[in-house]
Amino acid sequence: MSINIPDSLPKLLVLLGIIGMAVGIYVEKELTENYYVKFDKYDEIQDAVTLESYVVELEKKNLLERAKQLSQSLNVVNPIETNDSITSFIRVFSGDKKRVILTDTLDKYWNNYLKKQKSLDILLKRKEIQQKNINSEEKILDSRKEFYGNFFGIGFLLFIIGIGTWSLDNSKPSEKIVKQNDKLYKFCQSCGFKFSSIRPYGTEKDKTENLAFCIECYKKGKMSEPKLSKEDFINRKKEEIKNKGWLSRKLLMARFHSLERWNKDDYY
Ligand SMILES: [Zn+2]
Repeated sequence: MSINIPDSLPKLLVLLGIIGMAVGIYVEKELTENYYVKFDKYDEIQDAVTLESYVVELEKKNLLERAKQLSQSLNVVNPIETNDSITSFIRVFSGDKKRVILTDTLDKYWNNYLKKQKSLDILLKRKEIQQKNINSEEKILDSRKEFYGNFFGIGFLLFIIGIGTWSLDNSKPSEKIVKQNDKLYKFCQSCGFKFSSIRPYGTEKDKTENLAFCIECYKKGKMSEPKLSKEDFINRKKEEIKNKGWLSRKLLMARFHSLERWNKDDYY
């Protein structure tokens, strides 16, 4: 039993398969690129944070040195207190004149330090937001990749099925050739004439074509000269071609001798 596959189906499957795979690859590429654009932005912010942290450290160092120097030279208590994470400025606006002057002088350094610290805080906030963005983008990317990855998978499957059925379809011999033991003849296997529109194939009883014999030799399932012998046939042909050239005669006689009707018992 043979499976009947329409000619266009395998081609359609292969086409759909290629489209599916292409969509899969394209979308994956786009999604990955978008993701890396976001990631690059994050990197930029990270760089800015590093730089700004360095600037803050410098400002802090500057402030601490100034405070230490001035408080020593004025011989007053250092108004800047610092431990690992907290730096505080104890301002004095009235009373001890030296301490008021020290407060006024350090105010500029203190404000610079605070300003830099503030922009670092803003950058850190931006970095945090971008990190959240990337995390959610990662989730979206994963789910989309899974979804569009299916496109590639299904496309690949369709492609393989398409190619498979295509070659199956092509390797399937036509029914006519199968009928004639896998042979497609150029010449009538009884008279040796070449098949053409004026010398069509013979016919079977059920009106189907017989691809071995021409209509002159074989009609409705019967040989027109069933009792003709090979010898008589050859002699008749010799007579027919006696006026042709030597080479033509040789070639034609070789063809006549090779015709299946005269070499196989099946046809008697
Ligand atoms: Zn014939």
